[in-house]
Amino acid sequence: MHLPQYATQPTPQEIVALRERYRLERERRVRPEGAGQYRSTEAEFGYFADDPYSGGTAEREPLHDVVDVAIVGGGFGGILAGARLRGQGVAKVRVIEKGGDFGGTWYWNRYPGIHCDIESHVYLPLLDETGYVPEWKYAPGEEIRRHAVRIAEQFGLYEHALFSTAVTSLTWDQKAEQWLVRTDRGDEFRATYVITATGTLSEPKLPGIPGIEDYRGHTFHTSRWDYGYTGGSPEGGMKGLTGQRVGVVGTGATGVQVIPMLAEDAGHLYVFQRTPSAVDVRGQQRMTPHQVGADRPGWAAERRENFLRICSGEYAEQDLVADRWTESAGLLEKLLPSFRRRGEPDFEAAYEVADHATMNTIRARVAAEVTDRATAAALRPWYRYACKRPTFSDKYLPAFNRDNVTLVDTADTHGIERMTERGVVVGGVEYEVDCLVFATGFSVGLSGITSGKLPVTGRDGIQLLDTLRQRGPRTLHGFTSNGFPNLIRMGSLQNASSVNFTHILDEQAVHAAALVAAAQEKGAVVEPTPEAEDAWVDVCGQGAPDHAWFHAECTPGYYNGEGRGRPNGPTAYPHGAVAFHELLRRWREENMGEALQAKAAASA
Ligand code: NDP
Repeated sequence: MHLPQYATQPTPQEIVALRERYRLERERRVRPEGAGQYRSTEAEFGYFADDPYSGGTAEREPLHDVVDVAIVGGGFGGILAGARLRGQGVAKVRVIEKGGDFGGTWYWNRYPGIHCDIESHVYLPLLDETGYVPEWKYAPGEEIRRHAVRIAEQFGLYEHALFSTAVTSLTWDQKAEQWLVRTDRGDEFRATYVITATGTLSEPKLPGIPGIEDYRGHTFHTSRWDYGYTGGSPEGGMKGLTGQRVGVVGTGATGVQVIPMLAEDAGHLYVFQRTPSAVDVRGQQRMTPHQVGADRPGWAAERRENFLRICSGEYAEQDLVADRWTESAGLLEKLLPSFRRRGEPDFEAAYEVADHATMNTIRARVAAEVTDRATAAALRPWYRYACKRPTFSDKYLPAFNRDNVTLVDTADTHGIERMTERGVVVGGVEYEVDCLVFATGFSVGLSGITSGKLPVTGRDGIQLLDTLRQRGPRTLHGFTSNGFPNLIRMGSLQNASSVNFTHILDEQAVHAAALVAAAQEKGAVVEPTPEAEDAWVDVCGQGAPDHAWFHAECTPGYYNGEGRGRPNGPTAYPHGAVAFHELLRRWREENMGEALQAKAAASA
């Protein structure tokens, strides 16, 4: 497919004007409470997080057995860890998952219109291993959820899995050299190794709108879609909304996908927007196996590596995916040293010019597609491209041309002012709605360990959360920490990241499985020395890209602590995912044996 070109470069005068416009738009939106403006889906709002898909929690006897590995979380991180462990011959692997099945974010998010906006042929993991070839360039959510189930079935992960179960504590038993795993279903079982794969955007959040508890209409969060009320399916056909006045709060990546679907089925749709998303071209299309090279062994690994290289600023001979992610990769990750190395001498200036050209094109698209001038003006985003997660849709903007859709801009009041029994108040006007859908996202990083909901007690009673608070993150490669033997954490802290996070998770799973298999073979404990941690903290601190200035100027959102900025620090490996994966491969070949030997000797 041929993508339209981004606009020509802005003049110096335009750049000055854009900077000022961005500053003013940011000021309109920053709220002093920062992330404190949100409410968690707990206590009186706990019903927002209930599982609408599992059909109730089946009774079962608590477990008191022993497994080789306990994996906390059954999303792609946990599934991949399980698959890679099984591939290494590890026998008894138990995944513990809050949802009623495998899938993680794809279990919970089933809203109408849900798709993955990363190309399916690079996003869906283990395609080479399962022989599955997606039909569409961007897969629907249900296809992704089914693929998660496919992997779990193929690698025998159902046998020991526990669903609708939350791990409530992990405690290291020094004498037995095992973890004691407790759950909210009364389980108290033991595992020699624990892998945590609890994700970062999994707890739905609500805006702390005054009067939210007064609303008497029907309401739910997009990550717990109530098909019982709306009818229909992720493909639409929501007959329950016929003639209904529906409101939707939020226009992020989820809102952009769900709004065109609600527009089709609701009697009238009110879209309550605070900050418009940057909505770029989607270009959905069918792809034959031949087009993606699926007639050759290893095609999927090659394609996702190519995507990762381009998105990390590394050289690639060709761009296999060739979509807006690869085209705009330099803008998203340009703060990485790999991009700087390849960049122009006046790097910052060239970056800014390219950024403005892209955003000008995105703004011009709004004007071209939305007929009402005031609506089009409100839909134009005024911030730099990497300030918010980019979105992609060819249906979103035209939805605002429908007679049954009203855009209600809430920027001047920092969001919805208040709620009443009947609906939503913005600018003193009450919008009565029968149903209000919250597309308001997730608490960031509040999955388990950092939220304190999953206390982890290591050697001599030390608490993982305390060590994190007192000393900052201290790990080897992001996976392991001294004092917490045989505990392997998946996630991006002091590890790598990329837009295609399933690729990162798979590399992490390979590493975790290799550690467990080697430790099992040697009878060793997986635990870094304090010196190894010091060295890794240094690596993460040196050459870390300076994000602080960039995010301090950004419009508020979860990328920058709702406008409070994002500190620099040793929070990630600074040289990009490609270099990190190579480093891990070399470490496994050259150092892993010795690292585990040393531990075995020390604990002997
Ligand atoms: P976001 O946090 O990105 O968006 C929340 C939305 O709610 C924003 O538009 C926000 O406005 C709005 N909002 C919050 N409070 C108020 C308020 N008081 N009044 C009015 N509006 C309010 O959540 P999403 O669920 O959209 O996306 C979360 C993440 O999930 C994405 O960033 C992405 O990583 C992932 N995702 C991935 C997809 C994929 O295809 N791979 C698809 C969907 C999501 P404001 O911007 O002003 O804060």
